[in-house]
Amino acid sequence: MKKALLTLLFLFIFLARTGSADDRPNILFVFSDDHAPHAIGAYNGWLKSVNPTPTLDRLAQQGMLLEKSFCTNSICGPSRAVIMTGKHSHKNGFMSNGDSFDWNQQTFPKLLQKVGYQTAIYGKSHLKGKPQGFDDWAVLPGQGLYYNPDFILPEGRKQIEGYCTDLVTDMAVDFLRNRRDQEQPFMMMVQHKAPHRNWMPATRHLHLYDDVTIPEPATLFDKWDDNTPSAKYQEMEIDRHMHLNFDLFLDLDESFDGEQLPGDFDRTAWRNFKRMTPEQIAAWRTAYAPKDKAFHKANLTGKDLVRWKFQRYAKNYLRCVRGVDESVERLMKTLDELDLTDNTVVIYCSDQGFYIGDHGWYDKRWMYEESLKMPFIIKWPGVVEAGSRNTELVQNIDYAPTFLEMAGVEIPSDIQGKSMVPLLRGDQLSSPWRESIYYHYYEYPSVHMVPRHYGIRTARYKLMHLYHFDEWEFYDLETDPDELTNLYNDPSQAKLVAEMKRKLSALQDHYEDDSNMSVMPQQWQDDVRARKKVTRPPTRG
Ligand code: CA
Repeated sequence: MKKALLTLLFLFIFLARTGSADDRPNILFVFSDDHAPHAIGAYNGWLKSVNPTPTLDRLAQQGMLLEKSFCTNSICGPSRAVIMTGKHSHKNGFMSNGDSFDWNQQTFPKLLQKVGYQTAIYGKSHLKGKPQGFDDWAVLPGQGLYYNPDFILPEGRKQIEGYCTDLVTDMAVDFLRNRRDQEQPFMMMVQHKAPHRNWMPATRHLHLYDDVTIPEPATLFDKWDDNTPSAKYQEMEIDRHMHLNFDLFLDLDESFDGEQLPGDFDRTAWRNFKRMTPEQIAAWRTAYAPKDKAFHKANLTGKDLVRWKFQRYAKNYLRCVRGVDESVERLMKTLDELDLTDNTVVIYCSDQGFYIGDHGWYDKRWMYEESLKMPFIIKWPGVVEAGSRNTELVQNIDYAPTFLEMAGVEIPSDIQGKSMVPLLRGDQLSSPWRESIYYHYYEYPSVHMVPRHYGIRTARYKLMHLYHFDEWEFYDLETDPDELTNLYNDPSQAKLVAEMKRKLSALQDHYEDDSNMSVMPQQWQDDVRARKKVTRPPTRG
């Protein structure tokens, strides 16, 4: 009798264990770097006509697309730290790319591990230090390289030949096929370097879009007439700052020495050429040499030169995007082959948006729409309605609590985001989801010279404070989606602006942002704008 009871007990424990593992969904988080929503077909941006992302568009048809999805701080490392912790930058301590992430703090992968999830991360971590909270990992050192990159593995550093997006996908597929513990649900982060600058496509994509003219953004020749001076003092223009050799690989040949380029460029990409195989280099020269020849012959100037640079840039960017799209295709196919599709949540997103010629720019950092937005597409079979769209305001602070709720983990009270599960289920909400989001960018003075600023965005309005210079901008996104008319000094908006300021201040209290946000002394302001050598302004920590 006692033996029978014991057997029953073991059976019960076994069923409970396997039962719970079967019920909890796997989470496949595919993440890229600098992939703006308007470079995804399903987001209906002006790049849709070139069909940049057939697989991601299909993913959106099978799941939900979040239309108003935003970051809290539009820069690579900090966005990742927000995702890991569910907390704004000032709370997780990783405010600028120069900072280091404190891996000893609470992260969602650690919490998932505790309740029996098998966790893995492959690709670009950008958080520095040895990843914690992962059973298996292989990360790129820093930004990593597109071709034949080094990876940091638990056993040490190793160079692997191939194209970065494909290599990261290989690792993820290998995890699914060979390294997954079938007794546990998994949470895997597949984090691509692409389409980060310098935009180096796979050799198989070097001729993609050769016969296409990429449509130009409406604001390609924006002169920032209505912005505060801050927008005019940036250094991220296709016209004045994008470099023909460094950014666009003009005149690539063995004699070119990227080290000799003027300006404070990151030489990583040019060094990458030195470790490409002869076959890879030959493919590049075949693709670009005729285009370079035509460029020199045309002798372009002014707007024509900007247009040429835009085409070369946008095509290389979208070629890198295509590599990411193919990665998602391979991962979805692998899930199918392993019969994992029905119990796996697939998410696609990127760390922030990006300017693809919008406002005449490349890069990110600003609170303007193109770089504030983050794509977020999620397929959750049996829970998320296929082909649905949601327009609530969500941010990357919400990912960690969402993943925790999916896994049945209680959400710690210090997490600042909200679980999006009710939105994903399509619940009727008893109270409004979120009225406004908070933003704070810290990296200044620094590359691209985008000043520190914080701001608030509601469904309709945006108020930004470029606080070192005490400059304000206010936009009505309904009547002015491209943010071309700064209404801050418009007397008819004064009441609304005052109300938005109150709300902004309330948000800073709510999120406990105690960063130093003081106006800088006039001399410092003058020096930094004259690009004289300046002492860094006082910062918090
Ligand atoms: Ca990024």
